Amino acid sequence: TIGENFGRAVAAFGDRDALVDRTTGRRWTYAALAEEVDALALGLLGLGLVKGDRIGIWAPNCAEWTMTQFAAAKIGLILVNVNPAYRAHEVEYVLNQAGVRALVAAERFKTSDYAGMIAEVRPRCPELEHVVLIGQDGWRSLMAAGRRGDRRALAAAEAALTPDDPINIQYTSGTTGFPKGATLSHRNILNNGFFVGELCRYTDADRVCVPVPFYHCFGMTMGTLAAISHGACVVIPSPVFDARATLAAVQAERCTSLYGVPTMFISELADPDFASFDLSSLRTGIMSGSPCPVEIMRQVVERMGMVEVTICYGMTETSPVATQTRPDDSLERRVSTVGRVGPHLEVKVIDPETGALVARGRPGEVCTRGYSVMLGYWEQPDKTAESVDPDGWMHTGDIGIMDEDGYLSITGRIKDMVIRGGENVYPREVEEFLYTHPDILDAQVIGVPDERYGEELMACLRMRPGAEPLTAESLRVFCKGKLAHFKIPRYVQVVDAYPMTISGKVRKMEMRERAIDQLG
Ligand code: ATP
Ligand code: MG
Repeated sequence: TIGENFGRAVAAFGDRDALVDRTTGRRWTYAALAEEVDALALGLLGLGLVKGDRIGIWAPNCAEWTMTQFAAAKIGLILVNVNPAYRAHEVEYVLNQAGVRALVAAERFKTSDYAGMIAEVRPRCPELEHVVLIGQDGWRSLMAAGRRGDRRALAAAEAALTPDDPINIQYTSGTTGFPKGATLSHRNILNNGFFVGELCRYTDADRVCVPVPFYHCFGMTMGTLAAISHGACVVIPSPVFDARATLAAVQAERCTSLYGVPTMFISELADPDFASFDLSSLRTGIMSGSPCPVEIMRQVVERMGMVEVTICYGMTETSPVATQTRPDDSLERRVSTVGRVGPHLEVKVIDPETGALVARGRPGEVCTRGYSVMLGYWEQPDKTAESVDPDGWMHTGDIGIMDEDGYLSITGRIKDMVIRGGENVYPREVEEFLYTHPDILDAQVIGVPDERYGEELMACLRMRPGAEPLTAESLRVFCKGKLAHFKIPRYVQVVDAYPMTISGKVRKMEMRERAIDQLG
């Protein structure tokens, strides 16, 4: 279980740094973190919470998030990750859907008045008995009660756990629709975190900078669980992503590993003061979450010195990682594929219509099977049955190609594929080409309805500072002769920012809706 694994790390690495929260400037060794976790776990038991009860956590990244993660796992509570960007009606829905009995929350952050929103929805959340505001009296008295608590109660709670108990409801990003709550067990996420950390070669000498949200699997599993299973230290640069704070954290804490979705690395590399930060401690890191542009991967290796950077591919429903590049893969493969299948997992590529395996080198739907597949969507067995087949394969909805040597490439989501005049166009391929334009900072390609061709391509571009905005005509000139004619975007839109999920993914569905409105 997660508690046992954490206990082993504490025994082995007691005096090593475990957690640094740059927002408050506080830091904990493994031994000190274990004390906080035990106090919190005992405090929660004191509230009358028992194995299987749901405990919500609603806060931007902070040390208390991690303490709650481990305390809950230790006593078998099911942690419900609530999106820190949610507003009152959304949190109300999640609290009721998951039947949350206790909620740990930040009091406020910027424009999010969490305490105010909780007060507003509480009368409509009949199962919600306890609310504990981080850093406030409630948190302090819970910890104080826990410190006085009877440790035998903790031992008894731990003894009642098995690795297959559900301990977490993690929500998908909501990139393609309403977020879905994946129910995950100790076995699911602990193994996944462990193997991710192993393939990053983490040891107790590593310091892992985690600017991605803990609420999402990238932060709490590939970040915290991966680091803690190998004695590494987690560094929280800021409550929510901030390029400058991230670069500063890497420099000040001598981080060896840095995480991010592609857009985060793009902002860091584009920071006007990028060159003034000393990033020489970086060795590795993870880029994941969306297609990772080859050009950006190369810059991460060359300009950030992350020579062992890996790409992970997966989804919340599979704990999340299914494939990962290894440090000893060739540079070419490390920047252009999502690697090979992870230890003890299976991956196959099928024809989504017939279910038959497709040949190596041919595109099809990626499916994955093994210890990582979720227990199911929380109280939605019909939805679960739509994605996990009777043989245990998770159907990802992503299109991928497996090469002869077992390296997988993701060409995109089935839902994002554009069909123009009968030709399948994978936006990713066009985007990869656009990234080679010197004035383009970030490129996203979508399909918009077209009377003649069914769909036409639109490129939504963010330009480098000072660069002239590209027009459809100038882009056509750039692409001509290098891209097949049907892959050249007919429309160009220059934008300052894309609609994003909090996990840092571009919401192409929303972009498409906006574009359709604008085209009239
Ligand atoms: P929702 O399921 O709610 O629409 P989501 O699929 O974005 O949102 P997540 O579980 O956070 O929710 O993300 C999983 C998806 O992210 C994968 O199915 C895939 O489309 C994409 N993805 C993850 N890693 C990579 C990668 N390395 N390359 C390309 N795509 C990736
Ligand atoms: Mg998904």
